[in-house]
Amino acid sequence: MTAAHRILVLNSGSSSVKYQLLDMRDSSRLAVGLVERIGEETSRLVHSPLAGDGGKRERTGPIADHEAALKAVADELASDGLGLDSPELAAIGHRVVHGGLKFSAPTVITDEVLKEIERLVPVAPLHNPANITGIRTARALRPDLPQVAVFDTAFHTTMPESAARYAIDIETADAHRIRRYGFHGTSHAFVSRETAKLLGKDPSEVNVIVLHLGNGASASAVRGGECVETSMGLTPLEGLVMGTRSGDIDPAVTFHLKRVAGMSTDEIDVLLNKKSGLVGLCGDNDMREIRRRIDEGDQRALLAFEIYIHRLKKYIGAYYAVLGRVDAVVFTAGVGENAAPVRAAAIAGLEELGLAVDADLNAVRADSARLISPEYARVAVAVVPTDEELEIARQTYALVNA
Ligand code: AMP
Repeated sequence: MTAAHRILVLNSGSSSVKYQLLDMRDSSRLAVGLVERIGEETSRLVHSPLAGDGGKRERTGPIADHEAALKAVADELASDGLGLDSPELAAIGHRVVHGGLKFSAPTVITDEVLKEIERLVPVAPLHNPANITGIRTARALRPDLPQVAVFDTAFHTTMPESAARYAIDIETADAHRIRRYGFHGTSHAFVSRETAKLLGKDPSEVNVIVLHLGNGASASAVRGGECVETSMGLTPLEGLVMGTRSGDIDPAVTFHLKRVAGMSTDEIDVLLNKKSGLVGLCGDNDMREIRRRIDEGDQRALLAFEIYIHRLKKYIGAYYAVLGRVDAVVFTAGVGENAAPVRAAAIAGLEELGLAVDADLNAVRADSARLISPEYARVAVAVVPTDEELEIARQTYALVNA
């Protein structure tokens, strides 16, 4: 092991930067934080040094751009003795949403790699530009330090063509790089591996259905450690019902909205990505609030919940068929880790598939990976907390130490 054992993980959004500094000797967090509302008067930096007894620090006031944001982060880290100039910093790992077909593994960022990430902007217009800004800024700050891109799409590049292609004219699809890429790959990779560990097996021995249910949501079918199918497609809009996204709809709905409802393409984009899913169905996208409303007898909230569960069940059944043999169904992310009623409802009635949830185990609140299926069940049902930052740090560290 080299002397440099720290990894800084950066997740740059359009107006925010989330960061974590990890010590890879024991995977511990040295500091975590975020800068939000970059470019506004009311920017905010929240920094928590986790080593020692330092408390949370917060400062508000204008932070003009990503460069200023990263400099502010560097200052905060430096004041904890964790500065970016430290010889203990091994590399910076960047979350990059879209890696297209080219990037199937974490990649050390060079000028050429950066150009390729830029070439992918048309298929990820909302995400890749912010990731690129984060990379440029970090490279300017520490040009000598290895910087690694870890792609959300990478884990899904093992999908067979039968799963990755849409059944549309093949020349048109190829000319515009239209295919199913999948997202949340870092989470699916981490969680499927941790599930194998929970079962006491090697990832190559197990078939797992991963249900990443956060505000965005996606399912994946993982055979022997490799993704063979996932629910998000060209963009994160396809698949499950999400907080604000519709997931699957008949594509003709979009023509209908344009021709009959007179909506523009941009309006339809906003409708399906921001005003649909749970929020479109009942006005709330937080599962806690939806459950509270259901308990009070709210019928709209109940309908939203039922549509959410119905879609989830369809995907569990479909991925069961894709895999043929399933060793575990695993729930993760904000809803998956916390909402016991979602887990119970999604698995209810699937006993013939060997799937069941033990009510007592399901009710336990815990931060660790755990089984919630009864002992007699043929297929394990598990809750495994996701940790995308740790996965990015691990992949980055492994690459720079290779
Ligand atoms: P994520 O995108 O993974 O951060 O997940 C965020 C979502 O998780 C929120 O919008 C909530 O719907 C859900 N969530 C978080 N905590 C809970 C909880 N205790 N019970 C139910 N849902 C929760």
